Amino acid sequence: MSSNSRNFSKAAEKISFDEKHRKTIQFNISRYDTAVSKGMARYKNVELAKDHAAAIKRDVLNNWGKYLIQFEENISSRGVEVLWATDAKEATLLIENILKENNAKLLVKSKSMTTEEIELNETAEKLGCESVETDLGEFIVQVAGERPYHIVTPAMHKSKEDIAKLFNEKFNTPPESTPEELTEYVRQVLRKKYTIAEVGVTGANFLIADIGGISVTENEGNGLMTTAFPKVHIVIAGIEKIIPEMSQLGLFYPLLAAHGTGQQMTAYNTIFTGPRTKNEVDGPEKMYVILLDNGRTNVFADDEAYESLACIRCGACLNGCPVYKTIGGYTYDTTYSGPIGSVLTPFLKGFKDFSHLSFASTLCGKCVEVCPVRIPLTDILLVNRRKTVEQNLRPVAEKTIMKGFQFISANRKGFDFFSGKLKNIGTFAFNYFGWGPKRILPKFTNKSFSEQYKDKKLKN
Ligand code: SF4
Repeated sequence: MSSNSRNFSKAAEKISFDEKHRKTIQFNISRYDTAVSKGMARYKNVELAKDHAAAIKRDVLNNWGKYLIQFEENISSRGVEVLWATDAKEATLLIENILKENNAKLLVKSKSMTTEEIELNETAEKLGCESVETDLGEFIVQVAGERPYHIVTPAMHKSKEDIAKLFNEKFNTPPESTPEELTEYVRQVLRKKYTIAEVGVTGANFLIADIGGISVTENEGNGLMTTAFPKVHIVIAGIEKIIPEMSQLGLFYPLLAAHGTGQQMTAYNTIFTGPRTKNEVDGPEKMYVILLDNGRTNVFADDEAYESLACIRCGACLNGCPVYKTIGGYTYDTTYSGPIGSVLTPFLKGFKDFSHLSFASTLCGKCVEVCPVRIPLTDILLVNRRKTVEQNLRPVAEKTIMKGFQFISANRKGFDFFSGKLKNIGTFAFNYFGWGPKRILPKFTNKSFSEQYKDKKLKN
């Protein structure tokens, strides 16, 4: 068993019984559920919309190279420098060069999980460049010295009281501040940062092939501010974010908003097509797009898992997952958590250290039901479990017990050889050391069914 797997089990066991954590998550997810049911009700036929979106994303995967090249050609023609990064290390080097070239001392950043994947904030800080999160949730977790807890709502694990306390400690704001007052405070802090930052960094919700555009959707206007003032705009995007045509945003925007937050549309939807032109007064003078692989082509190479690249990062599978709702985002210790994180991470960061996540699922199927692009998440989790066993990555004790169980239960005589008492000791030990002492297993009777049947027959 890897140390990651052991840490995961320990952390999961601890947080599962943390009542405050559970209460906060239940409250926030129940608000999400109410909003999403309203969002879904706006659709005449949401299943048809999902079919359509799923088909487009499968077309993308079947013609991935073609659309990426089309995107690169179109956006480059307007003066954007497109850079390809095989992994996080290459992406980091590219960013370092850009920051150095532009003598950057401050960068502002809108919410992007891809930048979390490559630990952009740490890279910038090492170069002496302050990196400031501008999404409110990301700002809160940055101030708290944490990572995003959820791919859409980074501070979902914090109550408004937690945040007021945090801000009081860090910024000396009144401890009884309301969410509105705290938001206003952050707004004032960020306004100053936007105007003096040399570099603005965004992710991309969609890379649009036919026009060579970057689509960023957000609710706070911070993405726009991040790109309006700084002289340099860096986009860091996973290569799976491509869609063929701009017209398809008419399908994807509402689908992403409805599944992500229950909104009809996200408040700000911007398409960036290049740096400022001669007659424009704002916007960046230089624009770079870093297209990141970082293990995505490993997923693509796998016939049984490649569909997970269709993900549009709406977060619905996390919110629906009973395991995520119990253990929370940090237990996974990965950039992407929940069902999609459990599917992708072994491919992105290696089965050796992350295959245990394939087992962090009840396989109830809720994630598949809610996914707007119809990714068969539970099927892929099962595939990953099989790969884990094939690669000999399960603990020796588990393998031995399973082999023993297989042997004993193969015929009735073998199963009846042990008394109920012995069987109970065996399952207690397996449970205690394997699944954890909090799980209560049913008890074996002292005599098996066939023994009881025989006794009854003799009596009669
Ligand atoms: S796998 Fe589906 S439900 Fe989960 S984040 Fe991706 S698109 Fe949303």
